[in-house]
Amino acid sequence: MEKKTVIVIGTGAGGAVVANELQGKYDVTILEAGPDFKSFSGSLQKLASLRATGIYRDIAQIHAVVPNMVIDKTEEVSIVRGIGTGGTTTLATGNAVRFDDDLKALGIDLDAEFEKLYSMIPITTKHKKKWNAPMNKMFETFEEMGLNPHVMPKALKAEACINCSHCAIGCPTGAKWDVRELVENAVEKGAKLITDCKVTDFEIKDGNVKAVRARIKNRNVNYNADLIFLCAGGLGTPVILENSGIKCKESLFVDPLICVAGISPSFNQDKQMLMPFYSRHEGFILSPYIDYFSFFFDKKWRVPSSDLACIMIKLADEENGYLEGEKVHKVLSDKDKETFDKAIELCHEILINMGIPMEKHLVGITAAGHPAGMLPLTESENETLHSPLLPENLYVADATILPKTMGFPPMLTIMAIAMKIAQKF
Ligand SMILES: Cc1cc2nc3c(=O)[nH]c(=O)nc-3n(C[C@H](O)[C@H](O)[C@H](O)COP(=O)(O)OP(=O)(O)OC[C@H]3O[C@@H](n4cnc5c(N)ncnc54)[C@H](O)[C@@H]3O)c2cc1C
Repeated sequence: MEKKTVIVIGTGAGGAVVANELQGKYDVTILEAGPDFKSFSGSLQKLASLRATGIYRDIAQIHAVVPNMVIDKTEEVSIVRGIGTGGTTTLATGNAVRFDDDLKALGIDLDAEFEKLYSMIPITTKHKKKWNAPMNKMFETFEEMGLNPHVMPKALKAEACINCSHCAIGCPTGAKWDVRELVENAVEKGAKLITDCKVTDFEIKDGNVKAVRARIKNRNVNYNADLIFLCAGGLGTPVILENSGIKCKESLFVDPLICVAGISPSFNQDKQMLMPFYSRHEGFILSPYIDYFSFFFDKKWRVPSSDLACIMIKLADEENGYLEGEKVHKVLSDKDKETFDKAIELCHEILINMGIPMEKHLVGITAAGHPAGMLPLTESENETLHSPLLPENLYVADATILPKTMGFPPMLTIMAIAMKIAQKF
């Protein structure tokens, strides 16, 4: 008997898991908008030496240096995502944390899925042994201030990490784990991967997807399958749904971030992995993260990268963003701004306690990397994991279905819910 067919759209956190789970039981075809991922292999220092010429004007220029990195600019936040095999996980800093309280509150139990993921992914906190003295000093300052810092669990082969701080532009040694391993597994088991294939919309008939419409270069192509899994990410998925006449909720959240840096000669955070530890607060987390966006695109940050002692604030923002075609709209609410102000004050205090005076502090630009939440799961969907707005044979299995703002790394949780959805079949 012929196997049933499945199409998976996207190869990020959600798509890679679904394809790997289903290939074998089904014949899986994976449609991926971007090309294979390529790590940045040039010299950041050489690029930095050009800052004085004023050529770095627009954060979207980053795409020329890291072609898989795409920026969607909104009113107040520049949203970063990865387009290509591995999706945004290729740009992730490897933080691998469980954060599913809001899904649990809906009655969705992901214990078994997390257990399986822990057995598949090398998650470790052993990188602490490799921190340099300034990073240990920052950690101690957090401890002394009662900020309860935790070593960040990382999807990482710690022994291979060279502490280059390039995690978010592609790990040069392969030390950082990302979901490309699962895509490769699926392909080895027989899945067909079609890259540079951008899905535009669905032809829907009698309550089912009859055709997946896509563009390859300048060609229109159509695909069909018994089951479709849409995993194009928190911005990609809603565009495809809305193009197909399925209106999403205006509830986009993005976990916006702002970095506060102190200028401290030879702090050498540029020779450290990004986000080695974190500390949780009401509505935000703090974590050391060297802000290369501000370093390149904000004139005030024209100091050597080795002199930056930089703390990232990642906020759980209000769910208020929406799409107009492919244009993303996202503003910070008054509450978001108040929380940022409070967190920025705390960062100033930390840096002062580290001996860096206020006049040496810099506040960075507002960016984000966790777009999500435009077709949030609800309690009534806790068994089906399927929105009644969707055609019967179409499931969404990516950040789009997360129910609530997080302010915390979502990758592992997206993988767990995507696995649960795939395991229904
Ligand atoms: C710089 C950065 C660092 C981060 N670090 C971490 C971290 O350390 N830990 C963590 O938990 N999270 C991190 N994140 C967030 C995390 O990577 C994302 O939340 C997660 O990858 C989202 O998973 P997803 O499956 O929803 O989408 P994605 O991983 O973005 O995957 C979407 C996929 O769909 C493809 N696609 C898009 N549109 C189409 C289309 N029209 N047709 C076909 N394919 C399409 C894309 O190319 C991509 O492959 C980070 C994000 C950024 C930007």
